[in-house]
Amino acid sequence: MNADLIVIGGGPGGYVAAIRGAQLGLKVIIVEKNEFGGTCLNTGCIPTKTLFKDAQVLNYFNYAEEYGIKVDEYKLDLEKVQKRKKHIVKTLTSGVKGLLKANKVTVEKGEAKLISKDSVEIKLEGGSKKIIKGKNILIASGSKSSKPPIKGIDLEGVITSKEALEITKLPQKLVIIGGGVIGIEFAGILNEFGSDVTIVEFLNNIIPMVDNEVSSRLTKLLNKRGIKILLSSKVEEISKSDKELVVDINQNGEKTKIACNNVLVSTGRELDVDGLNLDNLGIKYDKKGIKVDENYCTSVPGIYAIGDVIGGIMLAHVASEEGKVVVERIVGEKTSVDYDLVPNSIFTFPEVSTVGLSEEEAKNKNLDYVVGKFQFSGNGKALTMNDSDGMVKVIASKDKTTIYGVHIIGPNASDLIHEAVIAMKAMLTVEEVASTMHGHPTLSEAFAEATMGIVGKAIHVPPARR
Ligand code: FAD
Repeated sequence: MNADLIVIGGGPGGYVAAIRGAQLGLKVIIVEKNEFGGTCLNTGCIPTKTLFKDAQVLNYFNYAEEYGIKVDEYKLDLEKVQKRKKHIVKTLTSGVKGLLKANKVTVEKGEAKLISKDSVEIKLEGGSKKIIKGKNILIASGSKSSKPPIKGIDLEGVITSKEALEITKLPQKLVIIGGGVIGIEFAGILNEFGSDVTIVEFLNNIIPMVDNEVSSRLTKLLNKRGIKILLSSKVEEISKSDKELVVDINQNGEKTKIACNNVLVSTGRELDVDGLNLDNLGIKYDKKGIKVDENYCTSVPGIYAIGDVIGGIMLAHVASEEGKVVVERIVGEKTSVDYDLVPNSIFTFPEVSTVGLSEEEAKNKNLDYVVGKFQFSGNGKALTMNDSDGMVKVIASKDKTTIYGVHIIGPNASDLIHEAVIAMKAMLTVEEVASTMHGHPTLSEAFAEATMGIVGKAIHVPPARR
């Protein structure tokens, strides 16, 4: 079978590339060894956000009296939670299969192995093999959890995000190794479900890619909810005693032990190129990912790679954008991914979302900048929601013509951030955002007020004392 494009991997990078290729008139074959939708739909974005919603609902019940509602009895039913999650995942993965079919993309279920620069061997589900040929091949095989070399890391009860998503019995005590996005999201969910959660983070702040002020604020708010966060701390060993796991921690030279039921390892992800035969083809890669040029072409002409497997920013929407751009470039269009405008969200309590430069990055780049902030405690909608912890922070050029970055910690931050993304994409000045009428009462008013502060027109902030 001959194709213009063979896509290996049906995650948000691969399936989007396949559909875009078909839209552009290419004959496309996509090969997937597991379920379509990849990590994102099956073991990443969607299942975590389903559990996050369950945690939010539980949170409403936990704080129902603050809304004036007395709830006598309620409890978490993890089996039903899992059933709901599976149903959503199935709906979405079936949707992807339907879209591929509707776009006349040929689907092959099996494991792909590159055997030359234009041919791929597929080990089909029954065990038989077949070879397909394509003018172009795109590797979108994604990533897998990586485990650090800690003694005891393979003990029973030490899990990754994949197993954490499948839990049907809540760990009474949980230690999470790693205070990055995945660790923080699980901490928020499982703490809300009722687990006693401790996060052990090697660095001196959690979610280090986020503006320092926002990550410190989140640390305090998570602490307030009962999540313990040990910073500048290293897990030295995990051992088993009776029915529990014991985690040996070294915090700045001070050693402690924590007993727990589960340890969740969320120290990062690494490229998944198992069985792809990259070495024999001479495709260059290292621990961070497959090496590609500006066209996403690997060291072998005609073979391309995108998404988590090339490292960079490991997010579903980045993989999808790269998926669109790689095929557009294959057909000769000169589109590109704007890596300066990647929205990044952390679904926790409260949500955190950022785009563009943090204050530290602006400082390190020696930019002349100004900062505008607005606290959700002064926003009517946030108060009606009983969800007024947090702020919007805007970093802009001193002449106020350019917005460098926007950082939101607070309710619905993951949706609100797109107002900032669009403003930055359209290169609106601070004044243009500040003078755009925002509906009342809405959370968006907090973004408008943060920009109004920069141009000296904030209404709902008392003037600075002289
Ligand atoms: P993947 O989604 O990993 O897809 C790769 C596909 O290739 C897989 O289906 C795999 O089975 C297949 N494959 C691999 N090798 C072969 C082979 N040899 N033959 C055939 N098929 C093969 N990102 C966000 O943007 N938002 C979030 O909220 C978010 N939450 C996350 C939560 C968790 C717990 C995790 C783990 C990740 C999360 N991510 C999130 C990251 C996101 O899931 C990834 O960035 C995204 O899935 C990468 O897409 P991809 O297409 O590059 O790879």
